[in-house]
Amino acid sequence: MDKLLYGSVLSERLKDEMRQKVDRYCQEGRRRPRLDTLVVGDDPASLSYIKGKQKACAFVGIENIVHHMPSSVTQAELEAEIVACNQQEDCDGILLQMPLPAHLDANHAILTIASEKDVDGLHPLNVGRLYAGEECFAPCTPVGIMAILDAMGCKIEGARAVVIGRSRLVGNPVARLLQDRNATVTICHSKTVDLKAITKECDIVVAACGKAKMIDHTYIKEGAYVVDVGINRTPDGHICGDVDTEDVLPYVAKVTPVPKGVGPMTICSLLMNTLKSYERRSKA
Ligand code: NAP
Repeated sequence: MDKLLYGSVLSERLKDEMRQKVDRYCQEGRRRPRLDTLVVGDDPASLSYIKGKQKACAFVGIENIVHHMPSSVTQAELEAEIVACNQQEDCDGILLQMPLPAHLDANHAILTIASEKDVDGLHPLNVGRLYAGEECFAPCTPVGIMAILDAMGCKIEGARAVVIGRSRLVGNPVARLLQDRNATVTICHSKTVDLKAITKECDIVVAACGKAKMIDHTYIKEGAYVVDVGINRTPDGHICGDVDTEDVLPYVAKVTPVPKGVGPMTICSLLMNTLKSYERRSKA
């Protein structure tokens, strides 16, 4: 059992620490940190994510303002709302909930977000800063993965790491964060030849390919640290990861389960980024 690292437990601990920090700031007479969330339309999954984020913000003491716009909103109206948030001194973070309806250009809307309030780490300036090794907001799931590896007690410096997946949101940024911590990183994808030969040599495996239980023990080096990012729905309606958790368990040092693994850490990282923005902006 102790080989399983529950992101759900870690996120509760980190949220507790953040709550204590926010309480302290408020006792010192400072304002509360604030996250503004913009959501367009009534997609049930998006609304459910928003609710989860609201609940987490409330727990930590971060004010969360939700700007709920109808699906008929125009690009200009959406961007005007973002610009208004940019200009509000008390707003520390701006999150644009994806996906947007098809008539809206998400990339263009993201460009409108002030990069210093882009707590989702999607603005091209933050992406560029991440790759330039400069101070920035990195996307939330990769930030959560790094916190999980640290909580696992994994020594990242000098480790051989493999990231399976090269997406803009997960694979590429987490590979960059691992490299920043002095791991030697290989990024794999759907065209990688002999994936197993690579993963078998690695001390850290981050599986983010969206293929149900693809990674079994034959891919794993004995004693590896495995982070399972995948969220896949099985034919019987259950959720599973990209890793066959039970099968790898005897061989790994630690592995994250799905659910209750990486998922809860993604929201927690959003709060950490918002608090970081607040501390920077209010010089706390
Ligand atoms: P994505 O954009 O679909 O990217 C998947 C990546 O996996 C691509 O780079 C793809 O290669 C690669 N890939 C696909 N099949 C492969 C194979 N057989 N071998 C090696 N690589 C393969 O997905 P994503 O947004 O990065 O998300 C990945 C998974 O994480 C999904 O299951 C998603 O639901 C989950 N996720 C979870 C969280 C969370 O909070 N827990 C957050 C985000 C995503 P190509 O580039 O060659 O196509």
